[in-house]
Amino acid sequence: MDFKDNTEEAAFRSEVREFLKTELPERFKDGALAETGMYRGAFEQLKDWRQKLAAKGWIAPAWPKEYGGASLTVMQQFIMNEEFAENRVPPVGGMGVSMVGPTLITHGTEGQKKEHLSRILSGEVQWCQGFSEPGSGSDLASLQTRAVKDGDDYVINGQKIWTSGAQFAHWMFMMARTDPDAPKHKGISYFLLDMKSPGVEVRPLTNLANQNMFSEVFFSDVRVPAKNIVGELNRGWYVGTTTLDFERSSIGSAVGIQLQLDSLIRYAKEHEGKGSSRTGYLASVKGELADRYIEANVARLMSYRVVTMQAKGMIPNHEASMTKLYASELSQRIARTGIKVLGLYGQLFGEGAPMRGRYESSYMTSLSATIAGGTSEIQRNIIAQRGLGMPRD
Ligand SMILES: Cc1cc2nc3c(=O)[nH]c(=O)nc-3n(C[C@H](O)[C@H](O)[C@H](O)COP(=O)(O)OP(=O)(O)OC[C@H]3O[C@@H](n4cnc5c(N)ncnc54)[C@H](O)[C@@H]3O)c2cc1C
Repeated sequence: MDFKDNTEEAAFRSEVREFLKTELPERFKDGALAETGMYRGAFEQLKDWRQKLAAKGWIAPAWPKEYGGASLTVMQQFIMNEEFAENRVPPVGGMGVSMVGPTLITHGTEGQKKEHLSRILSGEVQWCQGFSEPGSGSDLASLQTRAVKDGDDYVINGQKIWTSGAQFAHWMFMMARTDPDAPKHKGISYFLLDMKSPGVEVRPLTNLANQNMFSEVFFSDVRVPAKNIVGELNRGWYVGTTTLDFERSSIGSAVGIQLQLDSLIRYAKEHEGKGSSRTGYLASVKGELADRYIEANVARLMSYRVVTMQAKGMIPNHEASMTKLYASELSQRIARTGIKVLGLYGQLFGEGAPMRGRYESSYMTSLSATIAGGTSEIQRNIIAQRGLGMPRD
């Protein structure tokens, strides 16, 4: 790829920078909100910022303009994501913008679009993704939650698990089996489900870091109107794999990793020689910090590779798996290095702890990075089969 912006890209980058300089609320500028992840469910805190983004169509920059997006090209989205990450802008879109919105734009009825798209953009409706089940994660097509036709409704029974944000969500997009006799990919339908429907029970799960980020969701005779099926009956598997022309480089996480490392290196330098137990401290961690620094640059270059492919009209496949695999495993190595750099202080948590206690938390939460969104083993399978042409078995 050419690392320099062309004239149009440079102009767009300047526009994004100017917008952030003048419009990003002061209170977000130290990055605390983005860093702690406390923006989840923080609708009120983000309201003024959302309005400014909405005025430019930048809540859903990949969506077509006619639906309230900005119809940005993948390279423009990449530039925007890169600049937003550099400035630690708290994300506002969520799964509504990245997952269910594109699905409705592509497969939804006019009624479904009218009911949901504007409320996704305004942020008044939060969505969660009900795909995984206790026995179906990597092999998602084996899911067992049933939906049976009864009059104008479908009656849903079963269970989802690891449903991120279910405890805050107003609606769920989910897959359920509508034809148990068909081959497994062909008997699934894609539903929109109001979380307030009678028979929905959300039981929050506590993760290793003592946070409630995801839940189990149980369905007991939940009635969903048939008009809430998206796309064709029994074609839900294919509906669920819809994406718009989103950039897939994960540049935001690559930049986040670099920024995190920069502050870790600053901390290590500032604390060299402070306290007797810290004699020789920098010497003991500097090799490891150098390794992480190189790896963080590799992660960024991998993102550039993916977006370059997309900008040329190619569809990144195993390349996107490589980026996900590398960045998620790197986030775990950085968390371990962070704990080492902080020493005993690394066990403190909360705002008052050194580095806001972020390594106490990320040491534990980063474990899930290699599971969520497809495990490392599954990414390696994709790289082996589609990238290296190796056999499935
Ligand atoms: C933080 C977090 C948030 C999540 N949020 C959501 C959400 O919002 N909505 C949702 O629907 N799901 C969500 N998930 C679920 C996630 O998609 C699944 O955990 C993931 O797909 C793995 O499935 P599983 O947990 O059932 O593990 P399994 O598929 O049972 O895998 C168990 C182990 O076997 C390995 N394995 C499985 N198959 C193969 C294979 N073919 N080859 C080699 N090894 C294999 C896996 O790599 C893993 O190590 C979330 C998960 C996490 C951790």
